[in-house]
Amino acid sequence: MKRIELNCFLKGIQVLIIVLFVLTGCDNRQKSIVQQDEYMLGTLIQAKVFNIDKKSAKKSLTRAFQRVQEIEERFSVNIPTSEVSCINENAGIIPISVNEETIKVLEKSIYYAKLSGGAFDPTIGALVNLWGIGTKDAKVPDNQSLKETMDTIGFNNLIINKDKLTAYLTKSGSKLDLGAIVKGYAADEMKKILVEEGIKTAFLNLGGNVLVIGSKVDGSPWRIGVQNPFQRRGNYIGILETKDQAIVSSGNYERYFEQNNKKYHHILDPNTGYPSNNGLVSVTIITSQSIDADALSTSVYVMGLEKGLDLIENLPDTEAILITEMKKVYITSGLKEKFQLTNGEFSYEKR
Ligand code: AMP
Ligand code: MG
Repeated sequence: MKRIELNCFLKGIQVLIIVLFVLTGCDNRQKSIVQQDEYMLGTLIQAKVFNIDKKSAKKSLTRAFQRVQEIEERFSVNIPTSEVSCINENAGIIPISVNEETIKVLEKSIYYAKLSGGAFDPTIGALVNLWGIGTKDAKVPDNQSLKETMDTIGFNNLIINKDKLTAYLTKSGSKLDLGAIVKGYAADEMKKILVEEGIKTAFLNLGGNVLVIGSKVDGSPWRIGVQNPFQRRGNYIGILETKDQAIVSSGNYERYFEQNNKKYHHILDPNTGYPSNNGLVSVTIITSQSIDADALSTSVYVMGLEKGLDLIENLPDTEAILITEMKKVYITSGLKEKFQLTNGEFSYEKR
């Protein structure tokens, strides 16, 4: 089939809030820290590398951020010429030629859509646009528009051809939104470059998607604060000790608007068309690849407590911290020694 590329739409700018932060304190053993912060992928990206001379650190960070820019240009729905925008623009019309890495991320998205029973769905874009959460036009949609938009969702409509390197949304009006997975992918790609450059210790935070390379310079684990979903950024409920892992949170406090005293947040349930409302207010996933942690944090948030915990307990080398609106905290079995609840307002709960 003929392949075309077209310019597509510009969307509102997404604003994300960092939800995880590192507790470095005043540890003066962490010598020669070089830090670079950039606003990319609709969020603040913070990268710190340790124990490396300034010149090589800067060169490595420049390469890592250039890679994020490349990823943004390929996956952003806010850039009309991105591959994702072009796939959306040509939904129901024609398959679009895409890069191999687009195929890879789309395949990963479909994998998690299936694994989560459709709780995670990369074809949720039109619904995300309808709600407009994070834009100045955010509003509760009327029933008719909601119904029409719900018809555009369904990951089975996304056809990937690995040999021809094309992607196609079969349904007109259907739109991809990879906002729940791309920051994770970008974190992994930054890590790949930094490791290639010989960096053994680094801390990356892509708007709440934290990824640590190695342990701290003194060999001790990183201490990551897990955001208190009911308080301003920087207030945490407990501390996670970890090395060489991705730690990604999804929460109702990250992006939302209020209408008639009711809060509407940005993680939508593809079954109802409304913000997911199952008692969870935050889900943090800890695993080695950030792309998996990112997709899983959104998946589990929508799947809810029981199904979400079952899913994580059955995945190898994957752990989770779930917080409910009643301030109950559930952790998976592998975190008993690694996570410490420090905020007395919260308590552990077992299933
Ligand atoms: P995250 O913060 O990683 O949980 O991702 C939330 C973002 O992913 C939202 O801002 C939307 O762009 C998109 N999104 C919302 N709901 C879903 C869903 N159920 N499945 C996949 N992506 C979603
Ligand atoms: Mg996610």
